[in-house]
Amino acid sequence: MFESVITGAESSVASYCRSFPRVFDHAKGAEIWDAEGNRWIDFLSGAGALNYGHNPEQMKQALLEYISDDRIGMSLDLWTVAKAQFLNAFTQNILEPRGLDYAVQFTGPTGTNAVEAALKLARLATGRSTIGRFTNGFHGMTLGALAATGNSFHRSGAGVGLSDTQVLPFEGYFGEEIDTLAIIERLFDDPSSGVDLPAAVLLETIQGEGGLNVASTEWLQGLARLCHARGVLLIIDDIQAGCGRSGRFFSFEEAGIVPDIVVLSKSLSGFGQPLSIVLHSRALDIWKPGQHNGTFRGNCLAFVTARVMIETYWADDRFQKALARDAIWQTNRLQRLAAKFPDMVTGLKGRGLMQGVVCHDPNVAAAVGAAAFKRGLIIERCGPFDEVMKIFAPLTISRRLLEEGFTRLEDAFRDVSTPSRHVAA
Ligand SMILES: *Cc1c(COP(=O)(O)O)cnc(C)c1O
Repeated sequence: MFESVITGAESSVASYCRSFPRVFDHAKGAEIWDAEGNRWIDFLSGAGALNYGHNPEQMKQALLEYISDDRIGMSLDLWTVAKAQFLNAFTQNILEPRGLDYAVQFTGPTGTNAVEAALKLARLATGRSTIGRFTNGFHGMTLGALAATGNSFHRSGAGVGLSDTQVLPFEGYFGEEIDTLAIIERLFDDPSSGVDLPAAVLLETIQGEGGLNVASTEWLQGLARLCHARGVLLIIDDIQAGCGRSGRFFSFEEAGIVPDIVVLSKSLSGFGQPLSIVLHSRALDIWKPGQHNGTFRGNCLAFVTARVMIETYWADDRFQKALARDAIWQTNRLQRLAAKFPDMVTGLKGRGLMQGVVCHDPNVAAAVGAAAFKRGLIIERCGPFDEVMKIFAPLTISRRLLEEGFTRLEDAFRDVSTPSRHVAA
């Protein structure tokens, strides 16, 4: 009934529901149930917006209290107590301990709007128009962010020219032997290369949609030096890899670099509420009031849950230490899985709590995803050909549910590797 109401009314543009065609109704932590009470383990985590699981209890309680007390619910950028308390928690627990001194810009609620703001700011600050973007990068669907996104299918939806960007090779794009930093340096420094010096380079340190490609510490440091020496701003899109997913709050912490601009969204509210920010150096605080504007730039409900998320998980290093253990556990578990299906799995990708398995054939990956869904596991794919099975469990998942999820994934691989037996059963 619910399904026909939705399919009868909704535009064909809807996408995730096609991979997971059930009407969902309840969820808690890493588990989600449909309207008929069927249960799945959730390795999708709202496409990265639910790092802290569904309906995390502390955040839910704070939100319920906030709403029932008639606190401010609107989202304009008026000053509110909720905003002040979020900024206080964010500054004290996230920025200051890491030695970061950024101004916080609240943008529209989507990640792509925050990317737009970051690109505008870089162009305003440098007076240059080009943005250096990277192969396999993903930054969102509005025109400026889409121009910086690699995926040709998404680009094909634009309907206008996607201009003012220059594609650059990510680390390892041409294979391990080719030093892509040397290529970038040459393109920037040769006055006859045809590449204009960009206002900024925009990148993910772990390419979430592009196939879990990881930039190494050495490469990131080299890129930061190269940009700094030429007055090119460094923008890290930490929308997906940030908020704990890499194993630390920011994905670039391990490399010890300080980007000029950082974009955060997806899991920032800790509750799946839309909330996006741009962090920019004080020197870049050149905006005129309202020059990047929007009605929903102050989601108070998201401020409340974001504050509780930060206070609960990031006030000390216990959570980060647990993440480090979980990341190692997942790598070991994936190695075991890969060893069992050498004909289907060609390698492992990713870092931290965003790891994955590369399938030798995208059709196999699609079949494994479908088989996993039948077995009660929701898992997404990524990569240029959707060939990578992407493990995106909530960071807060218990070992027991994590193991249950991996067992289901392994069973799904077995279903696909021996289809005749499965069909017979
Ligand atoms: C999801 C994502 C975006 C876009 O965010 P939306 O909220 O979907 O607009 C941008 N960059 C990265 C790295 C993302 O993962």
